[in-house]
Amino acid sequence: MMIYEHGTLVTVDAQRRVITDGAMAVENGRFVAIDKSHVLHERFPNEPRTDLKGRIVTPGLINTHVHLAQAMIRGCAEDMELLDWLGKRVWVLQGNYTEEDGRASAELCILEMLKSGTTAFVESMLAERYGFDGIAEVVLRSGIRAVLAKIVMDIGTYATKDSWMHPGMIEDRETSLRNTLAMHDKWNGAGNGRLRVWFGPRTPGGVTPELYREISALARQRNMGITVHLAEVQADRLFLQEKYGKTPAQFAEDVGLVGPNVLLVHAVWMDEDDIAILARTQTNVSHNPVSNAKLASGIAPIPEMLAAGVNVALGTDGGPSNNTYDMVRDMRWASYIHKARTLNPLVMPAETVLEMATIHGAKAIGLEKEIGSLEVGKQADFVVFDLDKPHLTPHMDAVSTLVSAATGADVDMVVIGGQVVVRDGHVLTMDEERVLREARERAAAVWKRAGIEWKPRWPVL
Ligand SMILES: [Zn+2]
Repeated sequence: MMIYEHGTLVTVDAQRRVITDGAMAVENGRFVAIDKSHVLHERFPNEPRTDLKGRIVTPGLINTHVHLAQAMIRGCAEDMELLDWLGKRVWVLQGNYTEEDGRASAELCILEMLKSGTTAFVESMLAERYGFDGIAEVVLRSGIRAVLAKIVMDIGTYATKDSWMHPGMIEDRETSLRNTLAMHDKWNGAGNGRLRVWFGPRTPGGVTPELYREISALARQRNMGITVHLAEVQADRLFLQEKYGKTPAQFAEDVGLVGPNVLLVHAVWMDEDDIAILARTQTNVSHNPVSNAKLASGIAPIPEMLAAGVNVALGTDGGPSNNTYDMVRDMRWASYIHKARTLNPLVMPAETVLEMATIHGAKAIGLEKEIGSLEVGKQADFVVFDLDKPHLTPHMDAVSTLVSAATGADVDMVVIGGQVVVRDGHVLTMDEERVLREARERAAAVWKRAGIEWKPRWPVL
């Protein structure tokens, strides 16, 4: 057993209690007691203890939209249109990945996520060429909790544009479907349940309605989740209207992409009727405010979704679209961007945003009974923030300080399932220096193989 004491605990429990001078007792990977420090001191006087004085503790952050392979191509496509961004840079680089590149990029990404307080994530579309096995092994070794959604597709284009997709990124229906099931058989539940395998079908335009329906049926049979990008840009909405005469949520419902086991990503171009469908079907949404802003995709109607009762979680998206995987930074965006759009400072208060990054994320991956809050009986996944810094001083309110002022660099300790994975800001399960060195070397080699030359807009001497 370990007692973590004297911290400010932002529990996100049912009563949303914040416990000052609080303590948590952790045994066999789970919380066995959470209370004021003096109470736990009387109950467990002789157990080993860790002092969290002057620190804020939150549940582990849950990043519901990640592309692991894009960490190594961070910043590869700055200030570009989405179709050029994808067709001329992102897919060309990713289409030149080897399995070793896929593994190295996953290591870089997970290293960054752990250091910035993410304890669980959803990888949305692992392609065959990134090497599923190698990435699953990285997840297990690192100590993080993951949903790895494997790509499924049967059309090698993006929406109405022909031949945009790099040949290295195209997979056929049989292989992509069969191998998703094979990876589910092999890895789902590994690492004491830390790793789970889902379907990650491509966006409408990359998958036929028939294949979506088949995925939906298989997911029900196998109790699997599905995550899919939907209505990210206006062109996605127009495409569905022209091709199928449906709005994004109508289409999703028609092909079986709704329900508590479905996590729709972006959902920017959704109207009131779409939102009503998501609410009625209990479909989850991953909100990616930074990616949507950077790629000029738009601002998702998140306050409207929350008002309608939709479960909305938070995600960063990938290296070229964000460019970091720092959930703490993105909480601030999720709070501010909607105030600017609605001209209403009361929408998206800090508490709502922290819920999105924790308990809503847990619900979005079907784990709200296991993670997402500091509660007795749950897995001991938590993050400790060091507040002894100028930009966090003074801190009257723990939650607004985190959302409005902190960044992932303020994370001091991360514990996942009772295992200390980050201590004093250092990841204990990975060789940080080796991961960075290898990512730099492999990134340079991928650019070279892809035949893309880096052309900065300002003269570089
Ligand atoms: Zn994405």
